[in-house]
Amino acid sequence: MHTQYFTGTRGGQNLGITFKNTVLSPGASFGGLYTLEKLPKFDSDDIKEFSTLSYEELTRIIFNKLGLNVERDLLHEALQLYQKFDDKTSPAPLYSMTPYLYVQKLYCGPTRAFKDMALQPFGEIFSGFLHENKHSNDYLILVATSGDTGPATLQSFANRPNIKVVCIYPSGGTSDVQRLQMTTINADNIAVFGIKGDFDDTQNLLKELLKDVQFNASLRSKNISLSAANSVNFGRIAFQIIYHIYASLQIHKINGENVHTIVPSGNFGNALGAFYAKQMGFPIERIWIASNANNVLADFINTGIYDISNRNLVKTNSPAMDILKSSNVERMLFELFSYSRTREFMESLDENGKYALNKEELIWVQRYFGATSCDDTYCLEMIKKYAKKGYIIDPHTACGIKAYETIQAKYPNSKCVLCSTAEWTKFAPTLAKALELGDLKDKEALEAISKAYNIPIPRQIVSLFNQPEIHSAVIEKQELRDCILQWL
Ligand SMILES: *Cc1c(COP(=O)(O)O)cnc(C)c1O
Repeated sequence: MHTQYFTGTRGGQNLGITFKNTVLSPGASFGGLYTLEKLPKFDSDDIKEFSTLSYEELTRIIFNKLGLNVERDLLHEALQLYQKFDDKTSPAPLYSMTPYLYVQKLYCGPTRAFKDMALQPFGEIFSGFLHENKHSNDYLILVATSGDTGPATLQSFANRPNIKVVCIYPSGGTSDVQRLQMTTINADNIAVFGIKGDFDDTQNLLKELLKDVQFNASLRSKNISLSAANSVNFGRIAFQIIYHIYASLQIHKINGENVHTIVPSGNFGNALGAFYAKQMGFPIERIWIASNANNVLADFINTGIYDISNRNLVKTNSPAMDILKSSNVERMLFELFSYSRTREFMESLDENGKYALNKEELIWVQRYFGATSCDDTYCLEMIKKYAKKGYIIDPHTACGIKAYETIQAKYPNSKCVLCSTAEWTKFAPTLAKALELGDLKDKEALEAISKAYNIPIPRQIVSLFNQPEIHSAVIEKQELRDCILQWL
């Protein structure tokens, strides 16, 4: 087995950084992100062989080929957590909605959104790596969430020894279900704070705190190391590569065709996994970025210009995609254009709020990616349209339908996989509105939809409403540091 050494996206080669190092300490030097130095390439024989493997076997072989060294038993334990998901044969099952549209259900885990796909095994791996380092410190993991990462991280780390988690979310920026998924967790090693601000404020606050000298010194004096479980952590990306490979292989096996992979996108972590899968040679034709009204990513893919200098974040029905500064794009840029160019782009983004690809670079990007954006009106229409056909989809998945229609218009009858990133139960008030059941709060909306469409509400959601909210604090941005130190 070879070892992958990670490199910084803006420079910093040959630092000897392993997978384990990046998982435990994801903050790269040179201001960038740690990323893969080399990707393996697979040919049609490999693809044939891999398409007969179980999900666990597939994960193992891809991790090995990528040089992500995880001890055999530890990886097994991590993947065992998928046994709690809805379907024991695959954590991310596919179903076909039309002859050309497969939906991949990435929300079958405990918090009913795709973050569980990575964060469930990630928690086990993180813990395992920590305990391999015998005399190590305790770890503090900081998470900023727009609603889905927080619950999934807390679920993954609750009650794990030597690890504490602080989770911050924009107060009022999540659904009731998402909030309850954080505030009702009964574990001593977690703290949850609502922040007065939007998601970008929350994410920036976390970035500042990671760099805060005084804060870091206070932690050191308590023998606590700092880490992060946001999608910049490569440990999460690693698991997000696998289900894209799995879906492309399944469909290729049936049709012999390359598939168009549609990914509702915010921070570009999910899409990056699909990009790596394609780059390694798996049968993915193109990756389609589905944006909402915050369509900075879609504009970037379509024009080559990433420009947030004149934009304000808009609140939409698909809040997990209400993001302007999409962190993981940087890893894609690195893979296609290497260090110095990535550094130029990112410096330009910091200084001018924008950067632009040249013509050839844009052609490259468009060989991999297409993009569409979808406003709230269209999103609600799609929810209604598909409900009539018997499919209840969440608002993020609904944005992906726009991409599906665009693909079919351009490439008729081609096969598409739509990554369904959340279950409808996480966004029930929006669904109730789309389905003309009224202006309802989460609980009432869940019940109304369940009754009208005769679909069950999963036990993970029902139980939320019977538990006390333990972590109910809402604070100002500048209070955070002291609140955390006090809690520790
Ligand atoms: C996180 C999330 C997304 C966006 O995923 P990224 O990897 O950040 O692009 C989309 N939909 C839902 C429901 C999510 O929770």
